[in-house]
Amino acid sequence: MRDVVILGSGCAGWTAALYLARANLKPLVLTGTQMGGLLTTTSIVENYPGFPQGVDGTALMVQMMEQAQKFGAEVEFGVVADQVTLGKGKQQICAGKKIIETKALIVSTGAGHRHLDVPGEKELETKGVTYCATCDGALPMFRNQPVVVVGGGDSACEEATFLTRFASKVYLVHRRGELRASKIMAERALGNPKIQPVWNSVVESVEGVKEGKVTGVRLKDTGTGKSSVLACAGVFIAVGHVPNTQIFKGQLNMDEAGYLQLATGSRTNVEGVFGAGDCADKVYRQAITAAGMGCMAAIDAERYLAGG
Ligand code: NAP
Repeated sequence: MRDVVILGSGCAGWTAALYLARANLKPLVLTGTQMGGLLTTTSIVENYPGFPQGVDGTALMVQMMEQAQKFGAEVEFGVVADQVTLGKGKQQICAGKKIIETKALIVSTGAGHRHLDVPGEKELETKGVTYCATCDGALPMFRNQPVVVVGGGDSACEEATFLTRFASKVYLVHRRGELRASKIMAERALGNPKIQPVWNSVVESVEGVKEGKVTGVRLKDTGTGKSSVLACAGVFIAVGHVPNTQIFKGQLNMDEAGYLQLATGSRTNVEGVFGAGDCADKVYRQAITAAGMGCMAAIDAERYLAGG
């Protein structure tokens, strides 16, 4: 029986691991499939305090991991919890054939990319449909080609701006007439001559299934109802995220979108189970707030283990 296990390896998970390791509780971190979480899919993080020149998202996560390891955190890479049995005093985690038991559990499983759920999207994934410009933007199939970014938030603006390095033109397709993104990100995107906004338009389908690669998107103008095809070689979908909490359904309280509902700090409805980061935050969803929540969860877990 371990003292504490942390599920997830984003800002929340590593911060919790750092605090718990320094408290001598030898936390075990199961990283999940994507070590570092969503931050590793961004380029330069400009709003994490302490880095006036910005910091590479992946580099920041590796540094957080090393800091936690330095104080004794154990890490199992690529291990994903696929089933949990939660209860007072004992939490059981199944990860493949492995069964881990722990007194305290920190759930910092983050969030994944939301899909559009339109025809052609699934069929053309890896054939021009992607959810990560930093991962895929430089691929030869997008170079000097027109591409589409779907969404109106910070992610869409960041991805569109990044893609101007490679693509001949970037269409920013948004379902409304104004962006949701922060002012600085919106201005940067809209001020870029290679980015052309396409307002009030929803994607009806991704075209190119027959050809085996993306050839365009069919758009519907929400004002006129007219439908048309915009030719492109890539579709970068940045329409928000869904919390990775499916395995806790029925055991942990969550809202209808799947975000964990926390009471008094990081406590969930199960004694000894704590939530932190994007899986429990639908409001702020920033690297720094996730790190703060990880710290809170670690302190709550430490007090719980001490009988407080
Ligand atoms: P977001 O803020 O939730 O924005 C999602 C966008 O997708 C919205 O514009 C939304 O439209 C649109 N959308 C949602 N579902 C859609 C659908 N089915 N079809 C078409 N469009 C759809 O998500 P995000 O941009 O990924 O940002 C998430 C969080 O991370 C935010 O808190 C953001 O500030 C943060 N973030 C920060 C940075 C940074 O500061 N460097 C970078 C990236 C992300 P509506 O506007 O109409 O709702």
